[in-house]
Amino acid sequence: METVFVDGSAGEGGGQILRTSLALACITGKSLHIENIRAARRNPGLAKQHLSCVRAVCQICAGQCRGAALRSSVLDFHPAPPRGGVQPAPVQSGDFHFDIGSAGSASLVIQTVIPALFLADKPSAVTVTGGTHNPMAPPFDFLSETFLPAIVAAGFRGNCKLIKHGFYPAGGGKITFDIQPWQKSTDRIIDLCELGKEPQIHARIYTAKLPPHIAQRQRKLLLQSGLNIQNVEHIEVTDSDGPGNCAMIRLCSGERTTVFTAFGMQGKPSQEVVSEVVNLAENFLTSGAAIDRFLADQLLIYMAMAKAGSFTTNELSSHLQTNMEVIKKFLPVNFSVEQQKQAYTISCLPRAN
Ligand code: ATP
Repeated sequence: METVFVDGSAGEGGGQILRTSLALACITGKSLHIENIRAARRNPGLAKQHLSCVRAVCQICAGQCRGAALRSSVLDFHPAPPRGGVQPAPVQSGDFHFDIGSAGSASLVIQTVIPALFLADKPSAVTVTGGTHNPMAPPFDFLSETFLPAIVAAGFRGNCKLIKHGFYPAGGGKITFDIQPWQKSTDRIIDLCELGKEPQIHARIYTAKLPPHIAQRQRKLLLQSGLNIQNVEHIEVTDSDGPGNCAMIRLCSGERTTVFTAFGMQGKPSQEVVSEVVNLAENFLTSGAAIDRFLADQLLIYMAMAKAGSFTTNELSSHLQTNMEVIKKFLPVNFSVEQQKQAYTISCLPRAN
């Protein structure tokens, strides 16, 4: 079985290159050699979240690895060897528990293992302990309301539950994700190019172990923003290990919901938190695109598994571009990018070799 060589410093140079490579090595049975892991980050090499992803893929496909240590910048990963023939050994379904041991994002560990578990012939369940609401990662609400309904269109069905909230930096939250075997079909593809009907706009504020004036102030600022926000829900979290705050805007259009999030932290004024999330939503709404920039990079792997699909997005982010390059190293697909006014259409097509 061939080895795929990946330069972790290419393009975005972050953790996503590693996660996508691990997921695809599991799916294809190809070995992975990755160097310069997270070279473009201030704290390069494997952090706890990334190490958890490595251990998780080793577990789900009975693989082996070398270099799985904190701060390591080189990793070799060998999924289980083929059982005779050239096909990789099938991924085993199961009930898996992974503990990140920090506030590292539980969603990102889940996103690393589920592509392979969708290929198992029986359902699986994954439980991850870590951060459930972290800056720079999909919060639980995004995972359940934005990501999961988007992949269902291509036959990837699952269900996720938040068991306990975990905010950065305390972590200690818990998410479970149930995965059904992929119902592959040529007439079920990701086709998210049209915006759909005018979205209803809702907001959600989370606070944990913080004084009440923070949510009150953010609520007021959200209602004063240029967006026509219909209601602001406040979730006061009582089960988290530490404090936390985030403001979300949820654009709900038919069966689709797009969740945008900005995180509060000590020394960051509520004004800044609210402007950040309002700007994300406004940029998206004015573009006419159907998919936000975060979901865009997360959908690519599912389009590549189906060797089909397309969507429109408001930004050609470096996460998106880098992920396309990584995916092409493992799977026989190409991506096309077409720009129209403020949106980009991304399509996935099979490649001949
Ligand atoms: P690092 O950048 O430190 O390497 P990382 O491992 O978290 O960290 P990235 O490569 O930056 O990795 O990937 C972050 C992922 O989280 C991307 O898939 C991105 O789309 C997603 N993401 C970031 N912020 C949000 C958000 N607010 N909502 C949804 N998804 C998000």
